[in-house]
Amino acid sequence: MIYDVVVIGAGPAGMAAAIAAHDEGARVLILDRNNEPGGILPQCIHAGFGARRFKQDLPGPLYAYHFLNEIRKREIELWLESFVMDISPSRRVTVLSPKGYYEIEARSIVLAMGCRERTRSQINIPGTHPAGVYTAGTVQRMINRENWMPGKRFIILGSGDIGMIMARRITIEGGEVLRVVEALPYLTGLRRNYVQCLQDFGIPLFLRHTITRIDGYERVERVEITPLDENFCPIKDKSEWVDCDTLLLSVGLIPENELSRRLGIVLDPVTGGPVVDQFSQTSVYGIFAAGNVVHIYDLVDDVSDHGELAGRFAARFAKNLALWSEPSLSIGWNFPLRSVVPQKILLSKTTEEPLSFFLRVHTPWESSVTLSLRGEDSLFFQKKLPYVRPAEMISVSLDPSLVQTWKNHPPSRLFWEITYDS
Ligand SMILES: Cc1cc2nc3c(=O)[nH]c(=O)nc-3n(C[C@H](O)[C@H](O)[C@H](O)COP(=O)(O)OP(=O)(O)OC[C@H]3O[C@@H](n4cnc5c(N)ncnc54)[C@H](O)[C@@H]3O)c2cc1C
Repeated sequence: MIYDVVVIGAGPAGMAAAIAAHDEGARVLILDRNNEPGGILPQCIHAGFGARRFKQDLPGPLYAYHFLNEIRKREIELWLESFVMDISPSRRVTVLSPKGYYEIEARSIVLAMGCRERTRSQINIPGTHPAGVYTAGTVQRMINRENWMPGKRFIILGSGDIGMIMARRITIEGGEVLRVVEALPYLTGLRRNYVQCLQDFGIPLFLRHTITRIDGYERVERVEITPLDENFCPIKDKSEWVDCDTLLLSVGLIPENELSRRLGIVLDPVTGGPVVDQFSQTSVYGIFAAGNVVHIYDLVDDVSDHGELAGRFAARFAKNLALWSEPSLSIGWNFPLRSVVPQKILLSKTTEEPLSFFLRVHTPWESSVTLSLRGEDSLFFQKKLPYVRPAEMISVSLDPSLVQTWKNHPPSRLFWEITYDS
């Protein structure tokens, strides 16, 4: 079996990539291990998806449905319950599906495997190991899809969006959320979720606090909550035990990068996802990546845009294998920036596509800053921003003719910078 483009993952990134690749004339196959398409969206039944793309406040399943409808209108093959076990650098995909075990050849591949949640073992909470400790996404699935409530009295660790959204959901379903506890001195999720999910439901948020111990024999019985000093050290004499039966962890998402690692793709140590260029091609020739597998997005609209970009260029790659490698220009950045995607610009190829960058900061700054893209002696872009927050990605679209400028006169250094205005 040979396809022009094989997309791994049928979430919003993968579905958008498949549609865009098909519309460029490619023969496309999507593979997903789940028994339904949509990725994480079918369990996100709250509104808030698609404001930019559809000018509507859609629930996750409806957002996914729009894309599925577009897939059904096209000759795109979609294999569900099909787990991709391995990919070779020559783009042979090994799949285990109900139909059997397959080796599929692809002219190009789009990785769109999404992300997974950090678990208790990754943040090392001491104590006993009773039942009742879940990631927020697991409880989202239990309540929204499987129709059962995993507890009565909840504590949530982490102020990420999924945790805050689940605090509201649990309250609506009759559970009690006693506290949301966050180690950092600021929210890690969006402010709008803090207002709509915690404040509106009277759920207390404890910043600069963490859980220092879990206690319980068969089931969680209580957790120890401790304030942290400026160096994030627990102030043990101020610890407090709080009775509860369930602990939810909302302590970060990590790109699903097992296949990327096995392929030898260069990963960004900050984002955890592949290093990509402006066409979303990874360091392995002909392997593209999009969505949360690259870095964690705030908005599903951006995930779909990224999928379309990767799908379009994967299809173009499949048609013409030339001109897709070095030379490239690495992009740097200075504190307080934490990550920048794409991390490099391929100079061998120019297109009409706007040059899109996504940036995240380390720490919030609640007054005006200036964002700049600089070479050693030149300024290529500058913009004022009213504030910057780690939870809110900065997105910037640049004129693609810049690539030609850099190709003609390669700057010795190209970097993003934020300066505080006051
Ligand atoms: C638990 C959780 C809850 C979330 N809730 C919200 C929310 O409430 N609101 C919000 O705005 N955003 C939420 N997000 C963010 C959300 O993930 C993104 O907005 C968006 O869904 C990312 O799209 P994606 O296509 O990159 O990944 P996903 O939607 O995660 O899709 C990835 C797909 O890849 C498949 N896959 C992975 N590995 C393989 C493999 N080896 N073989 C075959 N298939 C594979 C998976 O089965 C999945 O279907 C949540 C994320 C998570 C992890």
